[in-house]
Amino acid sequence: MSTYRIQGATGEWEVVIGLEVHAQVVSNSKLFSGAATAFGAEPNTQVSLVDAAMPGMLPVPNGECIRQAVRTGLAIDAAINKWSRFDRKNYFYADLPQGYQISQLYHPLVGEGHIDISLDDKNPEADVKRIGVERIHVEQDAGKLMHDQHPTMSYVDLNRSGVALMEIVSRPDMASPAEAGAYLRKLRAILRYVGSCDGNMEEGSMRADVNVSVRKAGEPLGTRTETKNVNSVRFVMAAIEHEASRQVDVLESGGKIVQETRLFDPDTGTTRAMRSKEDAHDYRYFPDPDLLPLELTDAFIADCRESLPELPDAKRHRYETALGLTPYVAGVITAEVETARWFELLLAECALKAGKAQETVAKQAANWLTSELFGALNRLGRSLEDSPVSPAAAAGLLALVADGTISGTIAKQVFEKMLETGDEAAAIVEREGLKQTSDTGAIDAAVAKILADNADKVEQYKAGKEALFGFFVGQTMKAMQGKANPQVVNAAVKKALG
Ligand code: ADP
Ligand code: MG
Repeated sequence: MSTYRIQGATGEWEVVIGLEVHAQVVSNSKLFSGAATAFGAEPNTQVSLVDAAMPGMLPVPNGECIRQAVRTGLAIDAAINKWSRFDRKNYFYADLPQGYQISQLYHPLVGEGHIDISLDDKNPEADVKRIGVERIHVEQDAGKLMHDQHPTMSYVDLNRSGVALMEIVSRPDMASPAEAGAYLRKLRAILRYVGSCDGNMEEGSMRADVNVSVRKAGEPLGTRTETKNVNSVRFVMAAIEHEASRQVDVLESGGKIVQETRLFDPDTGTTRAMRSKEDAHDYRYFPDPDLLPLELTDAFIADCRESLPELPDAKRHRYETALGLTPYVAGVITAEVETARWFELLLAECALKAGKAQETVAKQAANWLTSELFGALNRLGRSLEDSPVSPAAAAGLLALVADGTISGTIAKQVFEKMLETGDEAAAIVEREGLKQTSDTGAIDAAVAKILADNADKVEQYKAGKEALFGFFVGQTMKAMQGKANPQVVNAAVKKALG
């Protein structure tokens, strides 16, 4: 990992970062009630009596939420605690009808795990740094206050009240904004592979509390501040950068860092103080008397483990070793689960059409996906999920290249037409007469005409200007409208020049 240092008036400072990520659990209903969790519903339409904290209501743990948190823990190699317990975290706020949040302080569901990151895109297996995860606990989300609906009143929407969150707490193991960014992206990728959180930061299903401190090399950890609820990777990186230099300025001008909660302002890229930090004792945590401790059976944990898909690191490694992809391409394809899924569908179709093993068609498919398709989607401003070309249709195009029906150049044109019309590659090639030809008669005739039209260049070539060979080939290809087999053209030009 590259070393990141802040250059202060008194010398270099190191930055220390720990992230607490709140990830909304994918589940149809809430952590302790049967109310729905869908995003974007009308305010207060997904609120049960439990979520509204009506007197006498009792929480019932939702097994699916527990299962998702355990699966997440297993995916980051974490210890699963077979015995855990829910605690009440008491505080008053208008979006919290219970007057307390049900969380897990003393006995979290998931213990120590880790996430490996790399800052080297070209070779993600090099320069790996292991970031410790201290714990994952399960807790309720709060409701949402709306201050912009009425001139003098604030409204509250309880749809989110009681939705299950996983709080994923890292060790203070990150040392630069780039490492924090890589950690968040990797964590989000793992959550999406596992299917335990959709990782959608814009919709608030994943948000980070950013703990930052600074110190001189070799010194113990400095006092940290915590910037709350930052909702994009870019903002997290900006918040760290700003907060670390602010702390250096404070310390170098003789001040002290106070442990406090801060807010990030995306418009200015700065952080500002929100409130002084509460400690656990301020919340009067105590075991929730409405809930029994959670006890997991070995069979339940084994079942969670069995349900896990191949995870990004393992998949990337397999793509490199079994499919022969470069570390870079394997990294790009496995970075998002949707990309890996699309690639595997494409690969299966290509292998089927060619009647060959997947490893023989993998490179062609991977390169086409990461250059041609990604390029086109970028241009169209579309995502892979709503790609205008399906994996099967793409395999149809690649098969035509693989069996020599069309050249790589023509394939690009055909692909453009596929994007425009939604037609199949074979139909476009047929309709527009784009088949590659090895017809030596036609090619020889074209070569003869090019040489005759360029007698001066032929002279120069014969006098030793060999670079002109490419010119003759290019002109012939052009005359053949790109449809001539390049090898045949090469041979014909060579022969004609004697
Ligand atoms: P709290 O819940 O009070 O915020 P936790 O111990 O649960 O406290 O979480 C603390 C978070 O802050 C963790 O992610 C941890 O890695 C990080 N952290 C702890 N000490 C420091 C420090 N000195 N500098 C930066 N981050 C820190
Ligand atoms: Mg915290």
